[in-house]
Amino acid sequence: MTARIIDGKAIAADLRATVAREVARLSGAHGLVPGLAVVLVGENPASAVYVRNKSKQTIEAGMRSFDHRLPDTVTEDELLALVARLNADPLVHGILVQLPLPVQIDSHKVLAAVDPMKDVDGFHPVNAGRLATGLSALVPCTPLGCILLAKTVHASLTGLDAVVIGRSNIVGKPLIQLLLNENATVTVAHSKTRDLPAVCRRADILFAAVGRPEMVRGDWVRPGATVIDVGINRIAGPDGKSRIVGDVAYAEAVEVAGAITPVPGGVGPMTIACLLVNTVRAAAAIAGLPPPAV
Ligand code: NDP
Repeated sequence: MTARIIDGKAIAADLRATVAREVARLSGAHGLVPGLAVVLVGENPASAVYVRNKSKQTIEAGMRSFDHRLPDTVTEDELLALVARLNADPLVHGILVQLPLPVQIDSHKVLAAVDPMKDVDGFHPVNAGRLATGLSALVPCTPLGCILLAKTVHASLTGLDAVVIGRSNIVGKPLIQLLLNENATVTVAHSKTRDLPAVCRRADILFAAVGRPEMVRGDWVRPGATVIDVGINRIAGPDGKSRIVGDVAYAEAVEVAGAITPVPGGVGPMTIACLLVNTVRAAAAIAGLPPPAV
């Protein structure tokens, strides 16, 4: 058996097209052009690429993009002052502070300073709490993308056994909450979990968000299960060149799973698409308009 490949690139492109339509509608009917501000501190090359892609896709969707680059010597007070300015700026509906931040800055303090209505990363404690208590919230982009991908395979997640490996605030924990909202039966595994392969084999849907290259082997996957691989790991290939692999041993798992996301081209493209979704949702909410159709 060979798994169906879940084409995150194509699904993300469709989602971006839907976002662009909603942006056109909001700006035509209400004069509202959603704006996303991205703050990048320092010169981390991976972050710089990510931020460039975000800006490009924001503009392609018809939204305004505001880039703020700060040196890695910036003080916490200076960064907080910028966040305060963006909170007050009526053209800005979404604020994203790219992580990681330099050591002199308390990232929790910075994330908590973002207006929860503009918190398009969904990392503010107010949004995390709202999600956990079943209220409407801005939801972290990567887990939101994971759910959308899972739903391309399973029209409903109700009653399915979902196993999430990883319990970070950015991926694992919000993913657990989203799965509960979808009525899945959720098991959370982490570094202290006993017999992880056996736990994984229970899953109808297996989400790997670990950060360990190809840790999940093919025989950890229940035949026919859906595998959503969040991992992005850069490793040296046999030719000495670096390449990106997921947390799942793809070549093995693709022979067992019913459906699987590739890396790259699976969860990754969905993350930015969901950021655009959150920006449109934030803009509509701030303007007091009904939730957009995306
Ligand atoms: P973290 O390092 O914050 O969390 C990793 C989690 O995996 C922790 O909960 C940890 O457990 C668990 N873990 C570590 N080792 C093991 C192990 N041997 N067995 C079981 N569980 C283990 O990572 P993130 O959540 O930030 O990211 C996870 C992966 O997703 C990374 O590869 C990252 O690059 C990728 N990522 C991809 C994104 C995308 O857009 N596609 C966006 C964000 C992340 P414990 O809590 O016990 O330490």
